[in-house]
Amino acid sequence: MISNFNLFLNIWIGFGLLTFVYLIISKIRTPYGRHSKNGWGVMVNNKWAWFWMEFPALVVMPFLSIIGPNELNPFSILLVSIWFIHYLNRVIIFPLRIKTKGKKMPISIAFSAFFFNIFNGLFNGYYVGFIMNPESIYNYNVLIGLIIFIFGMVINISSDNTLISLRKYSKGYKIPNGGLFNFVSCPNYFGEIIEWIGFLIIALSLPALSFTLWTFFNLIPRALNHHEWYKETFKNYPIKRKAVIPFVL
Ligand code: NDP
Repeated sequence: MISNFNLFLNIWIGFGLLTFVYLIISKIRTPYGRHSKNGWGVMVNNKWAWFWMEFPALVVMPFLSIIGPNELNPFSILLVSIWFIHYLNRVIIFPLRIKTKGKKMPISIAFSAFFFNIFNGLFNGYYVGFIMNPESIYNYNVLIGLIIFIFGMVINISSDNTLISLRKYSKGYKIPNGGLFNFVSCPNYFGEIIEWIGFLIIALSLPALSFTLWTFFNLIPRALNHHEWYKETFKNYPIKRKAVIPFVL
């Protein structure tokens, strides 16, 4: 059973890698947000799409972790808690706060994210609830991973806040400034990648590695797309700014 689980996960990671290579080579801009366009299926309300496409992540992983034969222990409770807190923000708070009134996204994008979140939730929840051996939370990797997770979450949420506040007085797009925006175009993605690296350091599991890699595979191409878009759109865009990893990329 465990070998099948690991096999599925390796196939899943391979699929993510192929997606990443395809997005980088084709330079396709995933059509939501600023890159949204027709031709990718029916257009649906942006805020509701965010809610429904991320909702499986909020429930599937915690549900499997709780109903599985493994008894909940401080280590599994920690994993479920930080996952749940992240997705509570992404599923409920983030869609309520974004200023995207009247905006739409193609249903194909919402569906692909929906299915990604089902699979990702299944892998991580099944691991915690059915496979994982009890671990102590009093290990260095747990402390270091937790600090990194919280650090990433602070960067992610504060950067999303900066972007949301750009629409306080007017619609449209502006050049974001301040904090990590002085170094990269997409610090919110940088923070998200750091968060899941932290989760991986705590969990030290194949499903957590898969999620961290998928986050990288999704967000690096999108950050490169955003960065190009900023440079095309704003002639005075700061030239020293990188796309997503300060001083590197
Ligand atoms: P974006 O940075 O594209 O947009 C975030 C919000 O800010 C949107 O409402 C957007 O509006 C608005 N915005 C962005 N830039 C500007 C600007 N220059 N001026 C004015 N408003 C702006 O992020 P995403 O929508 O792609 O992602 C949102 C969150 O979800 C992020 O925190 C990200 O990390 C996370 N995410 C995680 C993924 C994963 O694989 N783990 C995958 C995708 C996202 P508009 O929508 O109109 O462009």
